[in-house]
Amino acid sequence: MSEKKRLFLSPPHMGGEELNYVKQAFESNYIAPLGPMVDAFEEAIKEKTGFTNAVALASGTAGLHLALRNLGVGPADEVFASTLTFIGSVSPIVFQRARPVFIDSDLQTWTLDPELLAQELHCCQKRGRLPKAVIPTDLYGQCADIDKILAICDSYGVAVISDSAESLGALYQGRHAGLGAKAAVFSFNGNKIITTSGGGMLVSDEARFIEKARFLSQQARDNAPHYQHSQIGYNYRMSNIAAAIGLGQLECLDQRIARKREIFRYYKSALDDLPGISFMPEARYGRSNYWLTVMLVNPAKFGADTHTIRLALEEHNIESRPVWKPMHLQPVFSIIEDETKHHHTTLEKCPARAVGGHVAEALFKNGLCLPSGTALSERQLESIVMRIRRLHGVN
Ligand SMILES: *Cc1c(COP(=O)(O)O)cnc(C)c1O
Repeated sequence: MSEKKRLFLSPPHMGGEELNYVKQAFESNYIAPLGPMVDAFEEAIKEKTGFTNAVALASGTAGLHLALRNLGVGPADEVFASTLTFIGSVSPIVFQRARPVFIDSDLQTWTLDPELLAQELHCCQKRGRLPKAVIPTDLYGQCADIDKILAICDSYGVAVISDSAESLGALYQGRHAGLGAKAAVFSFNGNKIITTSGGGMLVSDEARFIEKARFLSQQARDNAPHYQHSQIGYNYRMSNIAAAIGLGQLECLDQRIARKREIFRYYKSALDDLPGISFMPEARYGRSNYWLTVMLVNPAKFGADTHTIRLALEEHNIESRPVWKPMHLQPVFSIIEDETKHHHTTLEKCPARAVGGHVAEALFKNGLCLPSGTALSERQLESIVMRIRRLHGVN
């Protein structure tokens, strides 16, 4: 390896204030999954996003799970989701023993295709079995076409939960990612645009929805001096220490987005002239936070495929990754062709349905996520670009 320091895809980037907040948390002795930092972090996220209610949680996945539980999703239900997403977006469907239905992407935005959604809901209604919810993913910092999705789902009375885990700070028609949905989820995992070292937030404009989620997230304790439970909950709360980190991180969010957008523009201007190279398009309706810069490679025109590029970068200790492997291609899901048969669900083999999938498959095959850390120097960016340019026409 010629470079010692590994260039990661999206490593944590502390701003400086985080440690002060953590110190305050120590001084108050709230070393617990509740406390003033958690309250302040929830307030700060509400302020930033415009959602009126929020509950800080151990992960984004936990947030989606609580949202589905709130909606009463159960074994007889279907839940629609984007096929081009991360497993945390859909595993909560299986936690509830419901059936996932994976919807393909729109080639213009790479997010859930509203046309396919409309067609499938129409079919479902004819069959007399509408899904309990639709979970569109705001992909790599780009909002799904939420107004279109909401209009379609509203006409069938189907709830929309926005998986905005990757898209804190992204805008749709000038408003924050996820707004308009019944609820939305953000993630503060270590690789996201800001991090709490691990955590998530469920937000909603319905106070009752968040109250219920908060109750379930702390073991569903009844209001009594002793420990009493009338239903089963979870231990899903965010720790006060994690929230302290989040408070400091949130202060940097706008700066981080500005830098992410610069990084995207740099890659684009430095590589766009190469034949067969293009980039994830930014939808006209919004402003992406560019969590990750994603490049699309036409191997016939460029002369090397994403696999070759990834390995060449890896040789120089530079991390890049294929685009999410679509859910309908994941070994854990077995795609049902004949719905009249009974399909048994286990955690190793989950029956699921797929609606389209060719767009997501092509993006998976030819898409590559490039190092997008906000602490990358110009020199490091130049070296990544140079290594990619060198591969043009090698095969
Ligand atoms: C990261 C992520 C999640 C899960 O968030 P965690 O905090 O890691 O549980 C869900 N959906 C998408 C699209 C993500 O990228």
